Amino acid sequence: MYKSIVIGTGPSGLTAAIYLARANLSPLVIEGMEPGGQLTTTTEVENFPGFPQGILGPELMDNMRKQAERFGAEFRNGWVEEVDFSKRPFKVKITGQAETLEAETVIISTGASARYLGIPGEQENVGRGVSTCATCDGFFFRGKKIIVVGGGDSAMEEASFLTRFASEVTLVHRRDELRASKIMQDRARDNEKVKWALNRTPLEVVTDEKGVKGLKVRNNEADQEEIVEADGVFVAIGHTPNTKFLGGQIETDEHGYIVVKPGTTETNIPGVFACGDVQDTKYRQAITAAGSGCMAAMDCEKFLEGAMVHDWSETLDM
Ligand code: NAP
Repeated sequence: MYKSIVIGTGPSGLTAAIYLARANLSPLVIEGMEPGGQLTTTTEVENFPGFPQGILGPELMDNMRKQAERFGAEFRNGWVEEVDFSKRPFKVKITGQAETLEAETVIISTGASARYLGIPGEQENVGRGVSTCATCDGFFFRGKKIIVVGGGDSAMEEASFLTRFASEVTLVHRRDELRASKIMQDRARDNEKVKWALNRTPLEVVTDEKGVKGLKVRNNEADQEEIVEADGVFVAIGHTPNTKFLGGQIETDEHGYIVVKPGTTETNIPGVFACGDVQDTKYRQAITAAGSGCMAAMDCEKFLEGAMVHDWSETLDM
């Protein structure tokens, strides 16, 4: 039985692992489908303190992982399909692995995943002209026209980044007002290759036998449908928290984000903690995720000190 299992390896999970490992709690860290989390799909991280020249997202995550390993964190690959938090020790089941893992505490740091528009032509063309990851797929659109959908910081970042490859990037947003921060908006606006199609609601990804041809949109001002032509559509409309595997055992808000006791990482189940984007609807930054990972490890340590006297057969209130 592990003292602590950390589920998820973004900045929050890996920071929790570093702190737990340094406290001699030998955590088991479970890496899912996207080891390193969202930062592995980003380019330059310019706002993580300590890197005056910036650092590549994957490199930052790789460094954090090595740091956790250096202090004795154990890593395992797999998709957590089921957990049982009804009594301690808690149980964690990984798809395709016979063994059920047991732990005195669990830290949930499963982050959030890219959202899709849910329009015709989108899902069937993922990887064939539709993408949610500019860093992964931008290279394939060298000299081509690209659409980025969204009005937040992600969309601005993706649009600016994609101009490295594309001949032209059109930013399609459903309102005429952007939600992105001023600095990110300015950066995109200053880029001559970025064109703007504001106040346009995406309706359908248009394709022919060769692939993506563009995006059918409703021009909300003119109240008519139009086609914005492009060879690729990058969807950058935010994220959904990865909490389905919890099977409703942990309290979440209406969007699925884990609810933690304010100022802590405690969930509604004593001994289960949450950190990073899976519980953060406000800040969602690498540094705040890392900070909350540190909090989770410290909350966990405190819990273990007190919990040692508990009877393991104790059934928790759900
Ligand atoms: P976001 O701020 O939630 O923005 C999502 C955008 O997508 C919004 O403009 C929204 O439109 C649009 N959208 C949502 N659903 C849509 C739909 N079904 N159809 C069409 N458009 C839709 O998400 P985000 O840009 O991913 O940013 C998330 C957080 O990460 C933010 O706190 C952001 O500051 C942070 N972030 C920071 C950086 C950075 O600083 N380098 C980079 C990326 C992200 P409406 O505006 O109309 O709602």
